[in-house]
Amino acid sequence: MIKASSLLRVRDLRKSYRSGDHRLEVLRGVDFDLATGEFVAVVGQSGSGKSTLLHLMGLLDAADSGEIELGEMRIDRLPSARRDRLRNSAIGMVFQAYHLLPELDALENVLAPLMVRHGVIEWLRVRREARARAAELLARFGLGGRLHHKPRQLSGGEMQRVAIARALVTQPRVLLADEPTGNLDEATGGEILDTLCELNRADGLSIVLVTHDAAIARRADRIVRLAAGRVEAA
Ligand code: ADP
Ligand code: MG
Repeated sequence: MIKASSLLRVRDLRKSYRSGDHRLEVLRGVDFDLATGEFVAVVGQSGSGKSTLLHLMGLLDAADSGEIELGEMRIDRLPSARRDRLRNSAIGMVFQAYHLLPELDALENVLAPLMVRHGVIEWLRVRREARARAAELLARFGLGGRLHHKPRQLSGGEMQRVAIARALVTQPRVLLADEPTGNLDEATGGEILDTLCELNRADGLSIVLVTHDAAIARRADRIVRLAAGRVEAA
């Protein structure tokens, strides 16, 4: 049964990869629900398909079959322009390797999704407000003094906080995080987790966090496990 409060719904999702004449079935009928305001960790061994699942939910890749709904809307199989708009408004993503643009400073990295959204002419009209919002987010994450640092001038934890600000500047309905502490030492990773918990508790941000680390997963409200291509309660 679909829960009324459920924000993100995945039904019977299947994904396989071909390598030569071999077919690797990574997801074999995944069912997954995220309630509004919930913080769920997805655990599973390396290679179990965690990133594959997150990428499908983030519309970075297409499943072989199954359905994904966000709110009231089915979001898989959208025409590419609508899919890109949705990724730029309703879904925020954070990755292990940050994926910041090296030539842009912290503020510009955070602004990039809004520049993409608005286009040149409209950007001139909205940029003041956008810059204020981006700077405010960076300040909230302790980076008020780093607005004009390039990624190479930032620590790993600082880069990840810029990446989180970039994911949130569009005010998404859900944040999808793939091993966001994977490149960080334990203390710095703990600070990133504190930030995610605070966003969940204080702002009601709905979060899916993928991790292979049980200690990290315990910070979430609920843990599910991906094994043998399916999601089970953990
Ligand atoms: P996890 O994130 O849980 O470590 P992944 O979702 O990255 O696992 O990968 C699941 C399996 O799918 C792995 O065996 C991986 O090698 C394979 N895989 C992932 N992406 C591709 C791809 N683009 N082409 C072929 N195989 C892939
Ligand atoms: Mg992975």
